[in-house]
Amino acid sequence: MEYVLKTNALCKQYKNFKALNGLTMNVPKGSIYGFVGRNGAGKTTLIRIICGLQFATQGGFELYGQSGENINEARRRVGAVVETPSIFPEMTAEENLKHQFRIIGVPSFEKVKDLLELVGLSDTGKKKAKDFSLGMRQRLGIAIALCGDPDFLILDEPINGLDPQGIIEVRELILKLNRERNITVLISSHILDELSKLATHYGFIDKGTLVREMSAQELNDACRKCVTLNVSDTGAAAKALEKLGYAADMTYKIYNDGRIDVFAQPNITQLVHALDEEDCELITVKEHDETLEGFFISLVGGDSHD
Ligand code: ATP
Repeated sequence: MEYVLKTNALCKQYKNFKALNGLTMNVPKGSIYGFVGRNGAGKTTLIRIICGLQFATQGGFELYGQSGENINEARRRVGAVVETPSIFPEMTAEENLKHQFRIIGVPSFEKVKDLLELVGLSDTGKKKAKDFSLGMRQRLGIAIALCGDPDFLILDEPINGLDPQGIIEVRELILKLNRERNITVLISSHILDELSKLATHYGFIDKGTLVREMSAQELNDACRKCVTLNVSDTGAAAKALEKLGYAADMTYKIYNDGRIDVFAQPNITQLVHALDEEDCELITVKEHDETLEGFFISLVGGDSHD
């Protein structure tokens, strides 16, 4: 597999505090890489180092196979929206883009129209950026990051604070950039559920360390199918489940409130029959997946890191 970004045991130390603690991650070319971690886990620190806004205290990274002195050359292929988008509030969307083209030394404005259309801001006319919704501002920020024609886009918490419509628009834009323009995207977020609607790969960061890297397929497999039973007698239900070949704490789990989670797709007719033989009444059956957030917490623990 070809990688756009590979980090090797990156560390960032602030006095006695390690914001990054030997972080190793690999972003495959063409992926939408969800970089998931709680607030304060170290996501922005990593992004700032990749963008050259901060330096690592130890370890290194490769961008497009380049490192050391050649890293600035590779950075030309990267566009980023880190923390808040760098927008001039008194300018219109068009003026903001033209300004960015001037900054990066591109004398022609021929791409402005295309970029405005791409991010869905072509009909904003004379409206100043300060009067945009948060979602429009975020999309303008992405358009600014795209001015240099990057093939790797880094977005730091792009949906933070957006309303549901804004979230959908940013999500669709990211998918379009990835699918139609072959842009590899790294998105940091603390909301795994939202990332799951677009990510092809994931890296889970906790306390400055990458605790797990996996594909979307692997994550789906990890979030097992689960059937929740509500029964009149959990002891009797356990006997019935054992008879059907399920094992306590492995393929089923009993809760105090009469609920039982079965991590499989049991044959309901057989199940009802087995429960009936144990004089146990089946009150409700509900099928669902283990939630992504549940999986996330199982990876990084349930305590707060703030
Ligand atoms: P958030 O989503 O809240 O920004 P994050 O995962 O992006 O979270 P970082 O911003 O990378 O986290 O911060 C990681 C840790 O490093 C935090 O505990 C933060 O307080 C700390 N930190 C960041 N910058 C500094 C600094 N200049 N001096 C000391 N500590 C810092």
